[in-house]
Amino acid sequence: MLFSPYPKTKREELFDRERELKELEEAVKRGERLILLLGLRRLGKSSLLNVALNELTYPSIKVDVRKTYSEFSSVNRYVIGKMLLSGMSGRKKLVEEAKLFLERVKGVSVSGLKLEITSKDFSITELLEALNEYGEKAGRVIIAFDEAQYLRFGGATRYDGILAYAIDNLENLTFILTGSEVGLLFDFLKFDNPEAPLFGRYHHDVILDRFSPEISTEFLRKGFEEANFKVSRREIEGAVGELDGIPGWLALYGYMRVTRDLGHEEAMNEVLREAKSLVQTELSRLFAYSPRYRVILKAVALGYSRWKDIKDYLTLKLGYINDSNFSKLLENLVKSGYVEKKEGKYTIPDPVLQKVFRE
Ligand code: ADP
Ligand code: MG
Repeated sequence: MLFSPYPKTKREELFDRERELKELEEAVKRGERLILLLGLRRLGKSSLLNVALNELTYPSIKVDVRKTYSEFSSVNRYVIGKMLLSGMSGRKKLVEEAKLFLERVKGVSVSGLKLEITSKDFSITELLEALNEYGEKAGRVIIAFDEAQYLRFGGATRYDGILAYAIDNLENLTFILTGSEVGLLFDFLKFDNPEAPLFGRYHHDVILDRFSPEISTEFLRKGFEEANFKVSRREIEGAVGELDGIPGWLALYGYMRVTRDLGHEEAMNEVLREAKSLVQTELSRLFAYSPRYRVILKAVALGYSRWKDIKDYLTLKLGYINDSNFSKLLENLVKSGYVEKKEGKYTIPDPVLQKVFRE
């Protein structure tokens, strides 16, 4: 269903995005070693990734790094190793073909279709080397890290170094990294830092943008048609205007109307309610770190767009803060994609979140 509120996996459920899908698939087929799939939250990165991995004939392993981090509070090598292995476990063809190579990896056991880490000697690099050997046979192996900026929490495991090694030496592997928090992802990868392992490495970037108003309208129309649900043109226009081309919100709006038989206003309120609860979880860490983040977001959401005005608002609400600390907080919000900076002005790029932050 076009309006399903989960990341899509099948081509038929993915609306539009032909160009981006083709770009991603061709980059893999060309043998690019590092591909980044970038864009704000809810634009459809995970969906696009799933569909591409499904369509491509190469074996692939996907790890949702954000989910892994929130589950284990760490992404050390055992955790990521476990996720990579469980991503392969149970897949008959893959395990049977890769078995020969995986069995040789220290600390990995293969029993039947189940792959496990069995000792402390386990090394991610060795696992990647084994997958590279398998990739030589299979044509290529794709390793996808969804929301890869969370790999920065690897502790002693330095994923930037591991990635650099793999990109330089393991020619049968393609890494696809997605990131909603684009600034944080680049901070972690450090392509521009001559001291960093990934300095100067080539990466092919696929960038997801929001839907245009025309595509948004078409998406809603098609989704309602698919569900045999009648809506007025004015309601569609209203939704397109308010949700500003963000597929995740458009889909959720449609889903609410169709599955709960809600009217336009009610469905909009549900979208807002859902956004509020998402913000609670998504931003809880940031808010726990400093209550100032909440106030800064509120200031920007209320329309204060200049550095000085935002700072004045924050000072009024929570007292003195020095310039450099304030800049850091604001910059972090930009890096995590909640705030956008354009021509010296700060805004909230997501209109639904803007409403949430305003309260
Ligand atoms: P991201 O990974 O960028 O945060 P997701 O892939 O999770 O985005 O998509 C967010 C929501 O929007 C999901 O419910 C998904 O089904 C929907 N969605 C995103 N892109 C599309 C699309 N092109 N067609 C249909 N639904 C989409
Ligand atoms: Mg995602």
